Amino acid sequence: MSIDKYKIVIGCEIHCQLTTKTKAFCACENRYGGMPDSRVCPVCLGLPGAMPRISKGYVEKGAIAGLALNCKIANFTKFDRKHYFYPDLTKGYQITQYDIPLCSDGFIDLPYTHLPETQRPGGKDFIGTDFTGKSNDIDGKYKRIRIERIHLEEDVGKSLHLEGAHSYIDYNRSGTPLIEIVTKPDMTSPDEAALFMQTAQEILRYVQVTNGNLEEGNMRCDANINLTIWEDGKEYHTPISEIKNLNSFRAIKDACSYEVQRQLEEFKTDRKEFNPGFKNTMGWDEVNGKTVVQRTKNSFIDYRFVVEPDIKPFSVSEEFIENARKQVGELPEAKRTRFKKDFGLSDFDVETLTSSRDLSLWFEEAASQSKDVKKVANWILAEVLAILNEKNIPITEFHLTPKHIAQLADSVAEDKITSKQAKDVFATMLETSKYPEQIISELGLTQVTDNDAILNFVKEVVQENPKAVEDFKNGKTNVVGWLMGQVMKKSGGKANPKTATELLKQILSEV
Ligand code: ZN
Ligand code: MN
Repeated sequence: MSIDKYKIVIGCEIHCQLTTKTKAFCACENRYGGMPDSRVCPVCLGLPGAMPRISKGYVEKGAIAGLALNCKIANFTKFDRKHYFYPDLTKGYQITQYDIPLCSDGFIDLPYTHLPETQRPGGKDFIGTDFTGKSNDIDGKYKRIRIERIHLEEDVGKSLHLEGAHSYIDYNRSGTPLIEIVTKPDMTSPDEAALFMQTAQEILRYVQVTNGNLEEGNMRCDANINLTIWEDGKEYHTPISEIKNLNSFRAIKDACSYEVQRQLEEFKTDRKEFNPGFKNTMGWDEVNGKTVVQRTKNSFIDYRFVVEPDIKPFSVSEEFIENARKQVGELPEAKRTRFKKDFGLSDFDVETLTSSRDLSLWFEEAASQSKDVKKVANWILAEVLAILNEKNIPITEFHLTPKHIAQLADSVAEDKITSKQAKDVFATMLETSKYPEQIISELGLTQVTDNDAILNFVKEVVQENPKAVEDFKNGKTNVVGWLMGQVMKKSGGKANPKTATELLKQILSEV
């Protein structure tokens, strides 16, 4: 027996923390970190008799996320109780949404350009249809990954298994608001699964519903993965593994890749096949680079779902949905297309400038105030980003304004100063926060563009350096550079270098 070929099938569940001021159903502050158990109350500790209330903005942020991911929003929905015992969930149930999720039927389009070439159209690993056999290619540019649903639910506390006999629980996270994004099994490679998470993170950050910091656990991915195997012309399906809590793009890619090989090997030796209701729950051991079985679900777990009796089912009005839609704004991919079209910037520059919503807005603000958008882009990409990296701060914490960069770019574009002088102005600007125009006039940097003035410098230099001129006549053309240096020096660095070069060459040809 030999395996002819196989196909990877991956579906993801992403838990994403929302940035509401308070926890999902109580008034405790919703944020990361701090002293354990410093933000808890009877509601999020699950004390008897405590009454949950939906926090301001929770449903709205959920709807904004749903709309940004192309979902339909339910006009009527409710919360349910999902019962199970976990030490970090004191109530003994989680408030979630069971059969009427707030959002459903969405999708994310993954750009082929972000996938390995073999997985793009024409590549040997390209698969152009989804799980149902329908084409999932969009305009030859994107692969569509369908989203089945997005529901609202609360997070649990955090268990800390430290060295020794004790485990500790921090309840600060208990009751914080999540959305859970459930995809269809449309991903066919570990790269796609990682790219899905990355694209979801970018979009959800753009619409400002989450901080999206993976290292703080703001977004966690559970990947469901199995294989369709064709062996001697017959089709087989391997058992599904659910790899829990993957919290980096690398972990998603590595864990899925490992699991593909493990399932192939297992199939060859045990010939285990897919069985509905059976699922291996796995964890990812990053240190040893392998998946480890946490539990095997042999039978259906009865979560005993009931409607949450303390929160009334509620209507979601068209007005509410329209208001959420307005807050979605321009999404990253649309912005990239527009930047390329309007500003004529390269793909790479556009990628960088749109890598965060704040940076893209900052750039647009500067561009709108300048006559030379390309120069503005270059200053931001080269100099501004270098400073931000060095200081490890986001653009929102940068002390200069878009106007600073716009003015600097224009000063060069209008030949007021040379590119070299602009670097000095930028340095002074960083130190003093003064605007370029002020710095230029204070330092007396204004570039000399007047031909007669430059011609005088050139003539003086030629007169004062007969030896160099002689060398030039004897064919040593490299002295031109040195003579240019003398002209610039004479002008105090203010001569327009282009004009000066032209005039120098002209004079030299005449002597
Ligand atoms: Zn609370
Ligand atoms: Mn969940």
